[in-house]
This record gives sequence, structure tokens and C-alpha cells, in this order.
Amino acid sequence: MLDGVREAVKKFLRSSADYETSVNLFIKELQKTLIKSDVNVKLVLQLTKRIRERALKERPPPGASRRDWFVKIVYEELANLFGGDKEPELKPPKVPWVIMMVGVQGSGKTTTAGKLARFYKVRGYRVALVAADTYRPGAKDQLRQLAERAKVLFYTEPGDDAVGIAKRGVEWAKSQGAEIIIVDTAGRHKNEAELLKEMKEMSEAIKPDEVMLVIDASIGQQAKALAEAFHKTTPIGSIVVTKLDGTAKGGGALSAVAVTGATIKFVGTGEKLEELEPFKPKKFVARILGLGDLEGLLERLKGLEEADKLEEISQKVLEKGDITLKDLYYQIVSVKKMGSLKKLLQMLPGVGLALNDKVLGQVDDKVLDKWLAILNSMTLEELEKPNIIDRSRMRRIAIGSGTSVKDVEELLKHYQMTRKMIRQLKRKRGMLNKLMEKFEL
Ligand code: GDP
Repeated sequence: MLDGVREAVKKFLRSSADYETSVNLFIKELQKTLIKSDVNVKLVLQLTKRIRERALKERPPPGASRRDWFVKIVYEELANLFGGDKEPELKPPKVPWVIMMVGVQGSGKTTTAGKLARFYKVRGYRVALVAADTYRPGAKDQLRQLAERAKVLFYTEPGDDAVGIAKRGVEWAKSQGAEIIIVDTAGRHKNEAELLKEMKEMSEAIKPDEVMLVIDASIGQQAKALAEAFHKTTPIGSIVVTKLDGTAKGGGALSAVAVTGATIKFVGTGEKLEELEPFKPKKFVARILGLGDLEGLLERLKGLEEADKLEEISQKVLEKGDITLKDLYYQIVSVKKMGSLKKLLQMLPGVGLALNDKVLGQVDDKVLDKWLAILNSMTLEELEKPNIIDRSRMRRIAIGSGTSVKDVEELLKHYQMTRKMIRQLKRKRGMLNKLMEKFEL
């Protein structure tokens, strides 16, 4: 599904039409793709309305193009669709917690059951795996081996009474004090109806706290029908998207999310037992947007935004002709957010550079960390009126910031130097202005 989105983004970035026309074109294509993939129409309209509003209102920081900024907006809004900054709750709300895994054969269900077992085991839970896939030969043995490797409890029985095995397995696991019980189920049967019937019976027998749907990232459009069929039989509580390591796709998962209302909890990123990651919406969207250098782009934009803020602070400082410790503090915070000082030196234009050369040019990133700690340990009053900082205050600040009195002294010395420099600059500017007035320049 998101192939369409990816294409639209590419087209947008290449387009020679004016910005607003390109935005409108992109939005039309986005709507078409999402609606075609059965994403809820209302959801699509809300999403594109927000994108459009932001696209026309927001101004990128100097140095960034509007088109790059637009990609960032699309990325953020799509990520919101998947949950944004919210990350799913992985801690079971109660114990014992019974998870029933469902999904078609080959999706990675058994492997994921093993991975999940390990995930919770290393977080201190007593975990049990129950093998109730009686249809695929070897599925029980595969899970037994995974259970051994993850060092968790294991239950199965010979024969093909899948529902009975699941029921007795869950009871046994409870009697062993298991806190998380994971039941692996069949992914294929004589036909689909048989499979769904078995899932329904099993779910009625074991009453799972959570039904987890396993979807292979590469199945694309089919994800919707699949999720819908399972959801009708056994309401899906959460989703795992597997094999994200092998494909740049995974968009089908969005349809699965849309039809079930369930959230994606984990993603599988390899065959190994530890290759299971809690789902992070932003990372996922970056992947399906397929822009290889999206991260680089976002980082660059972030840098430019910070540079812009820093420039603004520096400009104010120069206009005032004075600097407070608070200004210094904000400057350092800004620099830290941008990454390293070196980067800053490359980015800061004009005034910032002049300021920066002398003021920050002699210090390295470690010193900045120290200064930040020191400034964080000062009271607001001290930040505004550094003159009140006597020896005893210095001692308190040093202790509070895990530094020494000498460090605090150094920072204050540096600050005084900066201040002197800024005042001189202001005077020079004043003189220059007067000269210019005189010669009517
Ligand atoms: P099941 O039939 O759904 O139980 O599927 P299996 O657990 O047997 O997995 C099918 C195949 O997919 C196996 O070869 C697994 O090693 C592989 N697999 C499962 N999850 C992942 C994953 O996240 N990444 C990769 N690369 N392979 C996976």
C-alpha cells in the first residue's frame, strides 16, 4: 500500500511545479492510495487536512527547502497514524497473562512465540510456551527447541487435538506458576474455514487475555483480508509484523491496524531469538516511506532549526549588548541538541559565527557538558545575577553538579570574558553606525 505513498513522495521531490500545486497533487495521491487500501475515509481526510494546513503554514528554518520540510511533515503525520510517540504497553496488566498467537503458516508465528518467550523471560517473568499447532509437521518440535533455548517452560502432547492440548497446556502452565503463557496455533488447515473454526474453539476454551496476530511484512494487500478474517473469529488485541529485515515494505500492516483497531506491538527483524523489537511508530514509518536518507534529512533539519534558534538568541544578545548566564545556558542547550560543536561551527551563519569563534571556539564537547551541569545547579537568581555567586555558593554549585569549585570559577571567568567581548562589539557597532550616519551611508 505504501508503495503509492513512496512514489508520491518521490514525485513531489522531483516535481518542478510550484510548491502549493505540488502539495495539492501529493495530497490527492496520498488520499487515493490510502482509501484504495481501505484505510478509513474519515481518518484519511483528517490526516491530509492536517498535512495541508501544516504544509502551507509552517516555514522551514533558513537553509532548509520547503520541500524537505514537507517530507518531514508527512513523515510526522503518518507516524501519528501508527501511534506517534506513544509506544505500546509491553508490561502485562495482570498475571498470569495468556497470549494466543494467530496467523497463517510461514508468517513466523512459531519463531515469534519463541522470541516473545525470551523477551519476557529476560525481563524477569516466568514464561511458558504451549505448542498447539497440530497441523504443520515439526511445529511442536520447533517450539520445544525454542523453549529450551529461551529457558522457559514447555508443554505439548502427541496427537491432533489442538484445542485439548491448548486447554491442558494453559492449565498446566498456570499450575507451574507461569506468569506469561504463550500458545502457538496452526496456520493452515484443510481449508480456511476449518482453521478459523479451530481458532474460535480454542479461544473459547482457553479464554486468552490477548490474541496476537502475526503478519509477514511482505504480504502487502492481503494483510487486510487476513486480519479481517481472524478478527471476526477471535478479536485481535495486538499485532506483530515479522521479517521487516527482508523488505522495505510493511505497509499492509497499516490496513491490519485499521481493520482490527489493534496496535502493532512488536516487529521481527531477523531469524534469531533476540531479533524482536518493541514497535516504534516513527522508525517504522521511516522504513516504509523508503527514503534511504530520511534520517539524514531529519537530522539536518533539526540541526538547521537549532541553528536558527541559536542565531536568534545570539542576535538578541548582540542587540542588547549584554549576555546573561541564562542566555549562555540556552546557547549551550541549543548546541548540545545539534550534536557536536564542530557541526555547529559549520552551520552557524553570520553573527553566530563571529560570536562562536571566540566564545565557544576554545571549548570542546566535554567542557560543554560540564558547563551545562554547572548551570543546571544554579538558582534562577544566580543565573540572572551572577555577581552574587560567592565562594560558598560556588561550593554548593560544584557539589550539586559533580564538578569542582575550579570548574565553576572557570565557567564564570569565561562568561565575564564573553560579556566584555559582547559589550565591545556593541560599542564598535555604535561607532560604526555613527560614522555611517555622518557620511550619510
Ligand atoms: P510459522 O509457520 O508461522 O510458525 O512460521 P515459522 O516461525 O516457522 O517461520 C517461517 C520462516 O520465517 C522461518 O524460516 C523463520 O526463521 C523465518 N522468520 C520468522 N520471523 C522472521 C523475521 O523476523 N525475519 C526473518 N528474516 N525471518 C523470520
